[in-house]
Amino acid sequence: MPRRKFLIEASAMSDSVETPDISIVIPVFNERANLRPLVARLAPALTRAGVSFEAIFVDDGSHDDSLEELRALCAEEPRFRALSFSRNFGKEVAIAAGLDDARGRAVVIMDSDLQHPPEVIPQFIERWREGYKNVFGQRADRATDPKMRSFLTEIFYRLLEKFGDVSLPPGAGDFRLLDRQAVDALLSMRERARFNKGLYAWIGFKSVGVPFEVDARASGESKFNFTRLVRFALDGLMSFSSIPLKVWTYVGLVISCLALGMAVYFWARTMLFGVDTPGFPTLVVSIAFFSGVQLISLGVLGEYVARIFNEVKGRPLYLVAERVEANKRDERSLK
Ligand code: UDP
Ligand code: MG
Repeated sequence: MPRRKFLIEASAMSDSVETPDISIVIPVFNERANLRPLVARLAPALTRAGVSFEAIFVDDGSHDDSLEELRALCAEEPRFRALSFSRNFGKEVAIAAGLDDARGRAVVIMDSDLQHPPEVIPQFIERWREGYKNVFGQRADRATDPKMRSFLTEIFYRLLEKFGDVSLPPGAGDFRLLDRQAVDALLSMRERARFNKGLYAWIGFKSVGVPFEVDARASGESKFNFTRLVRFALDGLMSFSSIPLKVWTYVGLVISCLALGMAVYFWARTMLFGVDTPGFPTLVVSIAFFSGVQLISLGVLGEYVARIFNEVKGRPLYLVAERVEANKRDERSLK
C-alpha cells in the first residue's frame, strides 16, 4: 500500500539528520509579484525562531510567471523547492501535495499573498515546543474581506456548526503549524472533495489558537470568486454532514401528514356539503410546490452521488508536471 510505505519512509526519515525542524508549505496560484516579498520576510522570521527549515512551494497551475520566479528562487536558496501541478487543482489539493512532500518535524501552512504574516510563525513554534500539535492562526475579524463575503461566510459557519460533525474554532484557517503526527493523520485522508478546515478540526490533537492580524493581499486579487466559494462551501457541508441528505425524510413525513390531513378535510367537506369543483389554483400551486421540493431533494442526492462517484473513480489527487529543487537540477546538469 503506497500510503503505508509513505508513513514508514516518513518515520524512518524523522530519525535522519537531514530532517528540518519546520517545513513551510505554500500554495501558489498566479502570485509572481508576491513571491519575493514573501521570501524576504519568511527567512528572517524563521532564523529568528532558531529552527532549521525547508520551504515547499506548490505551483497550482499558475498561468503567470510564478513558476519561473520559483525556479529562480530555488536556484538561489537550496532550502526551497517547488512542485508544479499539470493544471489548477485548487488550493486544498495544493496544500495536500505540499504536506505529502514535507519532511519536517512540523509543517507550517501559509498563503503566498502575504495575508499571513510570517512574523507570527515564531509564536506558532513556541506553542509547538510547549506540546501543542495543532497550532492555528486565529484572525481577529474579517475586515479585509468584502462585506458580502463575510456575511455569507458567517452563515456557512453557523450551518456547519449546527449540522456538521466538526466544530471549527472561530477565525481559524489554513495558516497554522501542524506537528508531524497531525500531518501524518491528515495524509491518511485521501478524499478528493477536500475541505481542509474541517479536516484540521476532525483530526483533533492538542490545539491552540494564536491571534494574528490579516493583512490586505499584497498584490493581485483573491482567487475565490462567488461560484468557487459556493462550491467550496458545499464541499465543506457535504464532507462533514449528512444532514442535507437525511432532512428529506422529515420534510417528506411532514408533507405526507399534511396531505393526509387535507384528504380527511376534503372528504368531510364533500360528505357534508357535496361536490365542489373549483380549486384549480390550489391544485396548480401544490403540484408546483411539491415538484419543487422533490427536485431539490433529488438535487441534494445528486450532489452526494457525484461526490461518491468522484471518490470511487480513485483518480490521483493531483499530478505533478515538474519538480524544482537545487539537487535535482545539479544532477541534470551533470549528465
Ligand atoms: N491558491 C491556490 N490555488 C487556487 C486558488 C488559490 O493555490 O486555485 C492559493 C493562492 O495563491 C494563495 C492562497 O491559495 O496563496 C489563498 O488564495 P486567495 O488569497 O486567493 O484566497 P483568499 O485569501 O481570498 O481566501
Ligand atoms: Mg488571500
